[in-house]
Amino acid sequence: MSDYPYTDRFIVNRALPASGRPRADVLAEMNAMATEEDAFWETGRCSGTMYCGDHEHYAFMNEAFGRFAHVNALQRDMCPSQTKFEGEIIAMTLDLFHADAVTDATPVGIVTTGGTGSILHAVLAYREHAGQTRGVVHPNLVKPETAHPAFDKACHLFGVEVRNAPVDPESLTVDVGWVAGAIDENTIAIVGSACNYGYGTIDPIGELGQVALSRGIGLHVDGCLGGFLLPFGEELGYDIEPFDFRVPGVTSISADTHKYGYAFKGTSVLSFRDIALRNAQYFFLTGWSGGKYCSPGMEGSRSGGLIAATWAAMVSIGHDGYLGYARAIFETSAAMQDAVRSHPELRILGKPTFLFSFTSDEFDIYHVNDSMRQRGWRFNGQQYPNALHMAVTRPQTQPGVAESFATDLAEAVDYAKKHAADAPASGAIYGGVAGGMTDEADDFIRSVMAGMMDAQSSLPEGA
Ligand SMILES: *Cc1c(COP(=O)(O)O)cnc(C)c1O
Repeated sequence: MSDYPYTDRFIVNRALPASGRPRADVLAEMNAMATEEDAFWETGRCSGTMYCGDHEHYAFMNEAFGRFAHVNALQRDMCPSQTKFEGEIIAMTLDLFHADAVTDATPVGIVTTGGTGSILHAVLAYREHAGQTRGVVHPNLVKPETAHPAFDKACHLFGVEVRNAPVDPESLTVDVGWVAGAIDENTIAIVGSACNYGYGTIDPIGELGQVALSRGIGLHVDGCLGGFLLPFGEELGYDIEPFDFRVPGVTSISADTHKYGYAFKGTSVLSFRDIALRNAQYFFLTGWSGGKYCSPGMEGSRSGGLIAATWAAMVSIGHDGYLGYARAIFETSAAMQDAVRSHPELRILGKPTFLFSFTSDEFDIYHVNDSMRQRGWRFNGQQYPNALHMAVTRPQTQPGVAESFATDLAEAVDYAKKHAADAPASGAIYGGVAGGMTDEADDFIRSVMAGMMDAQSSLPEGA
């Protein structure tokens, strides 16, 4: 599919229209695009990305959003509603993570713009806290190699050295001994994922907590993906080790409301075991001529609509709702994993739960991807080793989707066996932006990223 399928169908705006267009026309054009794009994932054949997929829930959140979208959540004197919404989002999240088990500290949180936002704020908080309390000036962070690139991004932005711990090739969980050996007096924190994005495996959080406690440093648990799902899996009786504030040594947890919290894109919660850590990252400027300035995180103005819609999602779904959705997701994932295990040519990596990853020792797994793509499936691709992952979300829990996964997978395995000698068409890239990327030359990656932003330079002449 072209990246610019609309150039022939709709007016291309290279400057503001000379006079405004009727709202109805504008909405009709947007409606056409949205309806066609939604049809792609509504089939349930798209891994991750669309966590909820329920248009009635979206309509409800849009109403909540619309009431407050024009509000700047930074101006609290004008909108005490935002204080209520944000405070309750944090309280509900802390409760889910058993902050009540914390007796010697004061658990708090912040609402950020997404998983990356939560991870950025966590790394900043650890850096500032270590600087303020221990005089660390050359900070480092020890993370599993499998932890999300947002940690590398945060370290890049905030001048923190990254120490990548290897994972055990069988369990695909972090080598705790390596982590312990990499810690020194400049280590600000260590990281564990519950679960990681690539394999869906959960690092040994209890052991990491002991290491963190014995060395007097923090342990951040990345629950961006699993934070709003795994607690319900545990409640349903699945074999999921605790990863939250019940575990000694866990000092912060990131969990994305915009994933399995079923809110709109643009929010996540970062929870802290203790207020001192969160408050260490606050920035304020009291001497500015424009007035005393303070903001609770890295953002300035924030959308009141997103905070309102996130609150509305959480209180309208409720504990029972989340539990029911989780049951369907875990059951669907188990059925899909059974389908993978029924093929001796395929191998599931580690011990996953709702997100599973698989490879093959007999052929390049990207042949399976190529064939599944023809059938409308969209997986996330991995490398070292080449593998595909499926993050099961609510759209896959529709009747018939797990069954068609099994049928299509059987045909894809046949296809892969027949084409084992050829080079596959697809390759590994996060989020599936580009297929067929065969090298990692920096210039090429930069041009892919620029292509997403600079559409105007690529639009056909005269369009
Ligand atoms: C999605 C994800 C992130 C980053 O979140 P964004 O919302 O994309 O910024 C971090 N960690 C894990 C495990 C994730 O799945």
